[in-house]
Amino acid sequence: MNTDVLIIGGGVGGLTVALRLAMCGIDVTVVEQQKGSSHTYKGELLQPKSLEIFRRLNIAEEIRKNGHPLHTISVEEKKNKSGYYQHRGKSKMDYRVISTPFNYGLMIPHEELKKIILSNAMKYTTFHYYQPARFTEFVNQDKALINYNGSTLQINAKVFVGAEGRRSKVRQYIGNDIKEQMYDHHFLTVTFPRPSDLTEGKMISTKDTFLGLFPLPDNKVRSVYLIPSGEYKAIKEKGIEEFFDRVISLCPELDTFINQIPSWKQIQLMIPFQYHAKAYSKHNKVIIGDAAHTVHPMAGEGMNLAIQDGDALGDLICWMDEQSDYSEKHLNWFEKVRKPRVDHLLNLSHLAALAYSKPFRYFTKIRGRGFKQMENDHMLHYKQMLNISGLGMWKESLYERFIQLGLLPARSFQKKHMLQSDHLFTMKEDYPWRYKGGVANDC
Ligand SMILES: Cc1cc2nc3c(=O)[nH]c(=O)nc-3n(C[C@H](O)[C@H](O)[C@H](O)COP(=O)(O)OP(=O)(O)OC[C@H]3O[C@@H](n4cnc5c(N)ncnc54)[C@H](O)[C@@H]3O)c2cc1C
Repeated sequence: MNTDVLIIGGGVGGLTVALRLAMCGIDVTVVEQQKGSSHTYKGELLQPKSLEIFRRLNIAEEIRKNGHPLHTISVEEKKNKSGYYQHRGKSKMDYRVISTPFNYGLMIPHEELKKIILSNAMKYTTFHYYQPARFTEFVNQDKALINYNGSTLQINAKVFVGAEGRRSKVRQYIGNDIKEQMYDHHFLTVTFPRPSDLTEGKMISTKDTFLGLFPLPDNKVRSVYLIPSGEYKAIKEKGIEEFFDRVISLCPELDTFINQIPSWKQIQLMIPFQYHAKAYSKHNKVIIGDAAHTVHPMAGEGMNLAIQDGDALGDLICWMDEQSDYSEKHLNWFEKVRKPRVDHLLNLSHLAALAYSKPFRYFTKIRGRGFKQMENDHMLHYKQMLNISGLGMWKESLYERFIQLGLLPARSFQKKHMLQSDHLFTMKEDYPWRYKGGVANDC
């Protein structure tokens, strides 16, 4: 069979490209290997840029109704004294320092989000979806083999999108060797009922651990608890009460809530790592999302990078279709726009992860001071929120790194209105092919 674009993998990234392409009237086929929905936790915090993209895809309202908005994430440092945790300092990250309609994050169950994107793509007659259907190999430049219903489908396409996550096969065809960077800590993650006043994000950290709490709809909360790598088995053997006790000692308000988790089966072990592929495309093949990069989950970016990749690639292929020019050279635009942004967020997430790693664990004071300085210095606060929101990119200067470390004082002279400068991405920066045309390498 023939299709214009074959997308391998029906995760958030693949489905976002597919919806974008279907809206342009392009014939697009998605193959997804899984039988039904996944029970694995895969990220639930939508950053502002992803919400802005969903508005352009006309699904923002449906997503908002099924999610829980977060305006702030409080950051609390605690100290263990004779077996009890004592308050040491508190600060807050606030999305509202960015003046845009999307100055909040949104928590939504991952499978719910995928369902919304898929059901909207299904409305278009040029959208085709095969599940369970597994890509196995390419037989030549323009043909992919798919296992479907016990037989092999041969699918010809002009462009092949590898959106199949961490174990991407398309990445191998592009010729990428990835180097995984591992960390010295793992996470336990689980959802459970929340106290009614836990409506904003909350992070509690000590010199040994970290607890993140992110409220979901239906009075639930997603928790993420840091453990040293290799300790999972020992904790599990002590029984689920051990886990409850650890969480309650950090956050006593969760007593009678966390205890409602029926068994260890609900608690998932999350092993963070990071990599970034050298090249995103070759010939008529291109990789997006986790196939191209994986990020430490500390800054909550992985799912958002996949969605933002999906939007950029979708628009690029729509533009190529409008020009009736599917030349492979145009696909270079995708890497040119997305790679520097992904690099920046990978670095930010990596720095955040280091703050909780063993060699740096004894710098808890510096970590707490860094957040406090950020809260007091409007420019630092604005940059932090802008960068994690995905709405723009504004790197911290060396001078500002010194402020973060507490070596220089926070700047109190800044006026908030001075910060609403031109650091939000413009349409021209998001979709430059529409303004410059031609080949990315020539620009
Ligand atoms: C345990 C865990 C926790 C995470 N926590 C967070 C978080 O807190 N915040 C955050 O933003 N991100 C988080 N992430 C990352 C986030 O889930 C991913 O970055 C995001 O899902 C990437 O989307 P994707 O579409 O690129 O890939 P995926 O979501 O992995 O989707 C790939 C799809 O391709 C399918 N597939 C694979 N091979 C084939 C094949 N051969 N043929 C057909 N289909 C195939 C898979 O079944 C899958 O459905 C987490 C990820 C994991 C695994």
